[in-house]
Amino acid sequence: MPTSMVAGNWKMNTTLAQAVELAAGVRDGAGSLAGVDIVLCPPHISLQAVAEAVRGSAVKVGAQNMHFETTGAFTGEISSAMLKEVGCTYVILGHSERRHLFGEAETMINKKVHAAISGGLLPILCVGELLGQREAGETEAVIERQLQEGLSQVGVEKMAAVTIAYEPCWAIGTGKTAAPQQAQEVHAFIRKTLEGLYGRSLAQESRIQYGGSANPGNAAELLEQPDVDGLLVGGASLKGKDFLAIVDAAG
Ligand code: PEP
Repeated sequence: MPTSMVAGNWKMNTTLAQAVELAAGVRDGAGSLAGVDIVLCPPHISLQAVAEAVRGSAVKVGAQNMHFETTGAFTGEISSAMLKEVGCTYVILGHSERRHLFGEAETMINKKVHAAISGGLLPILCVGELLGQREAGETEAVIERQLQEGLSQVGVEKMAAVTIAYEPCWAIGTGKTAAPQQAQEVHAFIRKTLEGLYGRSLAQESRIQYGGSANPGNAAELLEQPDVDGLLVGGASLKGKDFLAIVDAAG
């Protein structure tokens, strides 16, 4: 059984001061909670301060995106080494907002997965279908393609660093959570796909998070599903109390 993990994706929603305050609250509140990996993903500009705020605690820091090159003329971009240097452990890759608002394609996401692992970061690779794809019965085909292409040439050893986050696009920021059974069905499919790609033992050990309007009211039921190993939380991670309640449900 993989250790469960709850990650908070703050997106572009916190100033530096708000990020540090939120991080300090999670650090203090999480002190007594064991058995769950906690990751905070603030905007890039707050990463260093948040890493300092949680230093010495069990709380880890993740970035929301990165570039696949290590250095060079890539205006506005950030490399894995820069993220490591300011205290990042994780990096979210292929988030649906990156895919659909910023046009990130599978080949780019795949390059980022390779670059993150080579740079010593642990990628959280997001996959998930659009509402129209679900309604057309294409969910499994979409997820399978995203896994195959996003993980292309990622061997078994590298794969041990990767967490998969199933985030149905229609559930992100909409208040419409996938029903626990719906989430479980796709998580089981993801594990089966990983088994086909990497073998049973790695598939069993892989961590598969659910993301999409998770909140303190639905977290426990989602986490009870056998293939749900954690949650990637957007909106509810912006309220320290709610985020800690979700962490508590995962512990
Ligand atoms: C997310 O952005 O990854 C997410 C899951 O957001 P929310 O929890 O707000 O749906």
